[in-house]
Amino acid sequence: MNIPRTSYPRIVIIGGGFAGISLAKKLSKQEVQVVLLDKNNYHTFQPLLYQVSTGGLEPDSIAYPIRKILKDFPNFHFRLAEVNEIDASAKKVMTNIGVLKFDYLVIASGSKTNYFGNEEIKKHSMAMKTIPQSLNLRSLILENFEEALLTSDLHERNALMNFVIVGGGPTGVELAGALAEIKKGILPKDYPDLDTRLAQIHIVQSSDCILKGMSDKASEKAEEFLEKLGVNVWKNVRVIDYDGKLVTTDTDLTFETATLIWAAGVMGATIKGIDSRELITRGNRILVNEFNQVKSFSNIFAIGDVACMVTDDYMDGLPMMAQPAIQQGEQLGDNILRLIEQKPMKPFEYKDKGVMATIGRNKAVVDLPKFKFQGVFAWFVWMFVHLFFLIGFRNRVVVFVNWVYNYVRFDREARLIIRPFKKNLKN
Ligand SMILES: Cc1cc2nc3c(=O)[nH]c(=O)nc-3n(C[C@H](O)[C@H](O)[C@H](O)COP(=O)(O)OP(=O)(O)OC[C@H]3O[C@@H](n4cnc5c(N)ncnc54)[C@H](O)[C@@H]3O)c2cc1C
Repeated sequence: MNIPRTSYPRIVIIGGGFAGISLAKKLSKQEVQVVLLDKNNYHTFQPLLYQVSTGGLEPDSIAYPIRKILKDFPNFHFRLAEVNEIDASAKKVMTNIGVLKFDYLVIASGSKTNYFGNEEIKKHSMAMKTIPQSLNLRSLILENFEEALLTSDLHERNALMNFVIVGGGPTGVELAGALAEIKKGILPKDYPDLDTRLAQIHIVQSSDCILKGMSDKASEKAEEFLEKLGVNVWKNVRVIDYDGKLVTTDTDLTFETATLIWAAGVMGATIKGIDSRELITRGNRILVNEFNQVKSFSNIFAIGDVACMVTDDYMDGLPMMAQPAIQQGEQLGDNILRLIEQKPMKPFEYKDKGVMATIGRNKAVVDLPKFKFQGVFAWFVWMFVHLFFLIGFRNRVVVFVNWVYNYVRFDREARLIIRPFKKNLKN
C-alpha cells in the first residue's frame, strides 16, 4: 500500500463516516501514524440522503472528499480500499489493494440495510443507505411517472404511482413527507396530462406508533403532519413479502406497487475476522466495553453504528445515530493516546443531544433532553442543526441556497434521470 513504517505507532481506521472522521481529527496533530481506509473516497452525510432521492439536493452537496477533510494533517494516510478480513492475532487487515499491519485497529464501518433474511424483499425493494442507492431511487420515482403517462392499463398506472415505504422511523417519515410535497407541488406542473391525485404514499409500520424512539407527542404530531399531507400511515402492519409487484402483509392489507422502499432497519457492517458469535450481539453489532474495546483485545476497538455499547440507559446499545458515532470517535482519540502513554483510559459517557425529524415544508418534530417542540420553529432548528453538521463550507452554502430556492419556488430542480435505474442485485 506504499505506507512507510515510522517510529510512531500505527492506528488503522476502517471507515470514514461520522465516527472514523471524528477519531482521525482528534488524532490529527499527535505523534501517531493514522491510516484511514474506506471503500469510497468520500464521506456521506446520510441524514440528507432522502433529499437526494427526491430531487431536493444534488449528491455532491451531501458528500465530501475524505482526502480534503484531512489534507492538513501530518502523519496521515488515506487509501481507497475495502477491508475484507481482519487477522487480529497477526495484527493485519486484508483489503482489495493489499495487506496492512496495524498497532491499533479501529473498526468504524457503520451499518448496512437489514432485510431480516428476506431475500425476495432484498431483491425487489429499494434501499436508501448510500448515494448510489439514493440516485437509483430518484431515477426510479421519476421513471415511474414517465411510464404511468404512457400506459393505458389502469392497474399498472396505479402501481407505478403507488409508493410504499416500510418503516416509520425518521428515514421513512422524512422520505414520505418529501414525496408528499412532490405530489402536491411538482407533479401537477410536470405532468398536467396525468391525474397525479391518484399517486399514493404509504408508510407501513409494524408497531403501534411511528418515530418509536421519540416522545409520544413527537410521534402523534408527526402522524398528524403526514396525514395532513395525504400520506397513509398503516400501524401494526408487518410487511411479509414483495415480488416486485405485490406487497403482502400479516393482515388482509396488500399493496400493488412498482416501488417498495425498505427503511425498516439496519445492522452492523461487521468484517470477517471480528464477526464470531461471541463478539457480536443484537443487530449484528460488535459488543464493546466502556472504552470501545472489542472483547478480548486491548488494541482493537469499534465505534459508531457497528459498535454496541450497553449502558444502564441503553440496554440494547447506544442508538445507531450520528451523535454517538461522533462522540465515541472523539473520546477514543483521547483513550488511544492514553493507552500509548500507559495511562488509564476514561470510560465513554454518551451525551444525548436530542433527536429530530422533518415532515415536509415548515414541519418538524424535535425532542431535546429538556425541551420538546413541533411545527415551524422545530423545522428551523432541524435545518440549522443539519447545516451545522454538514462537512465543508461549500456544501453548507450550496445546501442553504438550495433550500431557500426550493422553499421560495416550491421546487426541486434535481429531478433528473441521469442514469436510468437498473436493479443491481448486490444492493
Ligand atoms: C437515510 C438515513 C438517514 C439518517 N438520518 C439520521 C439523522 O437524522 N440523525 C442521526 O443522528 N442519524 C441519522 N442516520 C444515522 C447516521 O447516519 C449513522 O448513525 C451514522 O452515519 C453512523 O456513523 P458511522 O461512522 O458509524 O458509520 P457511517 O457513517 O455509515 O460510515 C461508515 C463508513 O465505513 C465505510 N466502510 C464500511 N465497510 C467498509 C469496509 N469493509 N472497508 C472499507 N470501508 C468500509 C463506508 O464506506 C462508510 O464511509 C441516518 C441514516 C440513514 C441511512
